[in-house]
Amino acid sequence: MFEYRGFMLDSARHMQKIEEIKKLIDTLPLLKINKFHWHLTDDQGWRFESEKFPELNSAGIRPYSDFGKTYVNEPHGRVYTKDEMREIVAYCAERGIEVIPEFDIPGHTSALLSAIPYLSCTGEDVKIKTHQGIFKDVLCLAKEETYNTVIQIIDEFLEIFPGEYFHIGGDETPSKHWKSCPECQKHMKELGVENYTEYQNCFMNRIVDYLESKGRHCIVWNDSAKAGNLDKRAIIQYWKESPKPTVSFLNEGGKAILSPFSYCYFDYDYNITPLNRTYSLKADLPGLTEEGKKNIIGIEGTLWTEYVTENQQLEKLIFPRLIALSKVALGESGKPYNEFIKDVQEIKNQLKGIEFCDEKDWTKPRASMIYGWLKYVRENITIDFVKELIS
Ligand SMILES: [Zn+2]
Repeated sequence: MFEYRGFMLDSARHMQKIEEIKKLIDTLPLLKINKFHWHLTDDQGWRFESEKFPELNSAGIRPYSDFGKTYVNEPHGRVYTKDEMREIVAYCAERGIEVIPEFDIPGHTSALLSAIPYLSCTGEDVKIKTHQGIFKDVLCLAKEETYNTVIQIIDEFLEIFPGEYFHIGGDETPSKHWKSCPECQKHMKELGVENYTEYQNCFMNRIVDYLESKGRHCIVWNDSAKAGNLDKRAIIQYWKESPKPTVSFLNEGGKAILSPFSYCYFDYDYNITPLNRTYSLKADLPGLTEEGKKNIIGIEGTLWTEYVTENQQLEKLIFPRLIALSKVALGESGKPYNEFIKDVQEIKNQLKGIEFCDEKDWTKPRASMIYGWLKYVRENITIDFVKELIS
């Protein structure tokens, strides 16, 4: 059994009502999920109320949304107030669950930069994003002001979230602006770093150091593992691409949480990630030593919400796949699949009021994956997304 058994909810792309989040949290003790990772900041939304930077409090509002099949021509979102976030923390604590907030830096920061543009390399106006993508508006890491502002925001987070872990993102950070920023180029020379992931990690390591000084442990997405200089006190969340850097990190004594996207990302249709695939996840990575394997501290399922606009749809994507993942995290996935299905039925009976995916769609033949991907591309990939990719 892993000590860290997590579930992540993205409230940045589409936010949920507090009552809807509580309804989800109510299901977690039965599955013995003990970590609620709350993704609160991204390119398309900012959900954390700030007193120090009140300009952030309107940054979360997106004028319209164009996530492909979910085009909505009206504003979406707001911040969660500090009282609301405290309410969620208390609600979780009563159920033995730790809330892990995610403040995603130094990429996925368009919403942040739309409020505080001087933290970017160019200082130009940045717009909150209305579609899916990986965006070039990232924090300028050469400015001391960036570090100081980030720390002040983190301090506000720490007041609300008292847990052991804090997620600082670190994923999908394009280096385009760093390449043309004289200050970043000068700073890179001073630091003696050879590539942009190393450069990013110099910043992330300062944040890790700061949070450790406050008795908190940082989690970062595995994009930061690509360079070998990530502080070993950080915990990697492995989600995609070659596992080799994560494996080296683990074999050298670092810790990691596993969320490989093709098993653990519940925003994908059941055609792409059927229940039996999630259930088949092995808590292992190729090349791990026995010691390295012991450094895997947990498993986490995630629900990203670019395409998830309402609660019934959200619950159907999560259930029953989160049950499968909880079995893996508990070390109880050795049972044959058909016996596991009986457990699912039992749990379903206990989780009254929760919407489950239709049983006929739980398990799919492998061929359905091609259909699933075609459908995904047709429904969700927009022209703006493609433009972003090739620019
Ligand atoms: Zn810069």
